Amino acid sequence: MNTSEENKFTPVADLGEFGLIDHLTKAFPMEREENVLGPGDDAAVVRYPAGTDLVVTTDMLVEGIHFDPMYAPLKHLGYKAIAVNLSDLAAMYARPTSVTVAVAMSNRYTLEAMEALYTGMRLACKRYGVDLIGGDTTTSPQGMTLSITAIGRVPEGKAVLRTGAKPNDLIVVTGDLGGAYMGLQLLEREKEVYKVNPNMQPDLAGHELVLERQLKPEPRLDILDLFDRYELIPTSMIDISDGLSSELLHIAKASGCGLRIYEEKLPVSDGVLNLCDEFGLHPTVPVVNGGEDYELLFTIAQADYDKIKGDPNFSIIGHITEDPSKQLLIAKDGAEVQLEARGWQAFKSAE
Ligand code: ADP
Ligand code: MG
Repeated sequence: MNTSEENKFTPVADLGEFGLIDHLTKAFPMEREENVLGPGDDAAVVRYPAGTDLVVTTDMLVEGIHFDPMYAPLKHLGYKAIAVNLSDLAAMYARPTSVTVAVAMSNRYTLEAMEALYTGMRLACKRYGVDLIGGDTTTSPQGMTLSITAIGRVPEGKAVLRTGAKPNDLIVVTGDLGGAYMGLQLLEREKEVYKVNPNMQPDLAGHELVLERQLKPEPRLDILDLFDRYELIPTSMIDISDGLSSELLHIAKASGCGLRIYEEKLPVSDGVLNLCDEFGLHPTVPVVNGGEDYELLFTIAQADYDKIKGDPNFSIIGHITEDPSKQLLIAKDGAEVQLEARGWQAFKSAE
């Protein structure tokens, strides 16, 4: 292999496409019995037992749009790319088994960069017990585009859709919100500082938790186990990728209903509160509109309230109503604000 002396980086061209694929995929053995055939043939083979529905999702990440290599290390990007797809499966009540990865990259990306990307993907695959079963590799005139497809299984007919919310259902969210958004604000601030003075060290200490929310989100597959334990089946569910407000509107539209959520019930961490203070931001803004937290948002029948009552993983933030024209946030002062997909302007003016 032709490693240049000045830098220790290896051009991908040294290996060629097939060499690169072999090199990257050899660290991904098939661990699960469902994955009968992995990378190396024209296609992979996955075998699910009878009575199973297969659930498929794809997400694409484009350099400059969804990630910035300046502050998203490739290892984190690989991890996040897998994680966000698994989150979509979790939102269907599906357990992931397999992923495929398609990558287009410019010759600026070296073998070492690709290894970092795949190291991150391997970490996520291992953590969530998923096999990388195939993909595609090609060059791009500039930047990198990463497309991941995840497949998972759910007992036949048991996928939880966005369409099932009914009036009086409770609206529940897992974990806390706004962390990923504040993590991004922090990274962007430090990037600006770095641009002005590249010798400045980024000032990120004490903010590890929100940075982790942005750089290394975790799909809430653990929540599916809780649902099983509590014998709880949500009436509708979605994962929070674009922001609470936007996801609530998806559920309302798909289910043909209205809803009310209460500002005082929204789960927010101390880390987010502190950063909002520092940035002079009202904390409800990142909580309602900040995306990429990858928590689950779901509705349950009132009769199921006792099943989750007191469990710190869940916050009941409101309820479903009849009127499909009203998706309301009830502010702490009692003001009613119609939610919008990016509704923080409206929210601000109501303050
Ligand atoms: P084809 O020409 O049939 O599309 P490829 O050469 O693209 O075949 O792929 C060969 C094998 O390597 C396939 O099994 C494919 O799924 C796998 N593969 C290709 N690129 C990747 C990748 N980036 N990550 C994982 N597997 C890959
Ligand atoms: Mg191919």
